[in-house]
Amino acid sequence: MSDSSGVMVFAEQTEGKVHPVVHELLGKGREMADELGVELSAVLLGSNVDNAAQELVYRGADTVYLCDDEALAAFDIMNYRKNVLAIAQEVRPEILLLGATPIGRSLGPRIAAALGTGLTADCTTLEIDEHHHLVQIRPAFSGNILAHIKTETRPQMATVRYKIMQALERDCTRTGRIIRTDVLLEDPLAVLAKLPAEDEQKQGLSEAEIVVCGGRGLKKPEDIALLHDLAQAVGGVVGCSKPLVDEGWLDKEHLVGFSGNTVRPRLYFAIGVSGSSQHLIGMRAADTIVAINSDPTAPIFEVADYGMVGNLYDLVPRLTAAVKKMREADDTAIPVCA
Ligand SMILES: Cc1cc2nc3c(=O)[nH]c(=O)nc-3n(C[C@H](O)[C@H](O)[C@H](O)COP(=O)(O)OP(=O)(O)OC[C@H]3O[C@@H](n4cnc5c(N)ncnc54)[C@H](O)[C@@H]3O)c2cc1C
Repeated sequence: MSDSSGVMVFAEQTEGKVHPVVHELLGKGREMADELGVELSAVLLGSNVDNAAQELVYRGADTVYLCDDEALAAFDIMNYRKNVLAIAQEVRPEILLLGATPIGRSLGPRIAAALGTGLTADCTTLEIDEHHHLVQIRPAFSGNILAHIKTETRPQMATVRYKIMQALERDCTRTGRIIRTDVLLEDPLAVLAKLPAEDEQKQGLSEAEIVVCGGRGLKKPEDIALLHDLAQAVGGVVGCSKPLVDEGWLDKEHLVGFSGNTVRPRLYFAIGVSGSSQHLIGMRAADTIVAINSDPTAPIFEVADYGMVGNLYDLVPRLTAAVKKMREADDTAIPVCA
């Protein structure tokens, strides 16, 4: 806690244009950094975003950490998480702020979980108390009270709603440092991780690091074999949605959701699962969710990190074959996803 210092703002951009909430966060961040006597930094990821980086200095940042790569042009949860996390671990800010936008809401909790710290979502006010702790204020209990929240761990993380904080006037005479950082890119297959040995498949569903879950997209009981094949290839455990238990195709011990198991694996395959609220409650905390569904509007895609729209009877055997081939090529050199 004592070696953390500085206020950091995640500067989200789309097509090179920084979201206005970032200017507001820099305005509030400047005020708090001055009060604490520390530096205000911004983290910007994108492609050819030098002008945007300079703009962040004009808007109040002392330092901009810039990750510039084509692969970062558009928001990609795995690559953004990896780079923002690496910078936060290196710089060790005491406060880390994100906009309460779809991107900020997706990225913030993943960074917080990886750093082992807390995050207060949708703050409407931020203050520094007499002990230099961040007081994160947000409505709670249907807006009937204003909760004042403090985080004991560092960084103290918050997402802040748009149009709440005051942006600073743009000042072109302001100077600051722009530091280019090494770009880290995630290999999508790396989330398959260092595949566990086959005897690890005996683990229970709740403890499993990889879960292969099937839903009503499967048409016949024999098709459960598709799940077992993929689970065996990746060293995972088979789970299912409720209709498969109701049909008697799998025992209740495989059920994921409200009426069954809550799982939190590193990797969760949702295959032919629509994503009902009763199912999501049992698996949405998974680190990485891969959804396979023929319906592009299926709710499961709203929580998935990776989505494959198509027929599971075509996609699952191909995925299983690709994983087996990868293992055969080298089953020790597959990098673990941090
Ligand atoms: C009190 C209560 C408790 C419940 N508890 C649970 C629970 O613990 N767990 C749980 O899972 N459910 C639970 N449910 C049931 C829940 O409401 C849903 O009905 C259930 O989750 C739906 O399962 P599903 O996604 O497999 O099926 P569906 O909603 O029917 O979805 C099937 C999906 O498969 C896709 N699909 C179809 N064919 C293919 C194909 N060939 N290739 C690719 N995709 C295809 C479809 O597009 C669809 O999105 C509960 C319900 C209640 C009322």
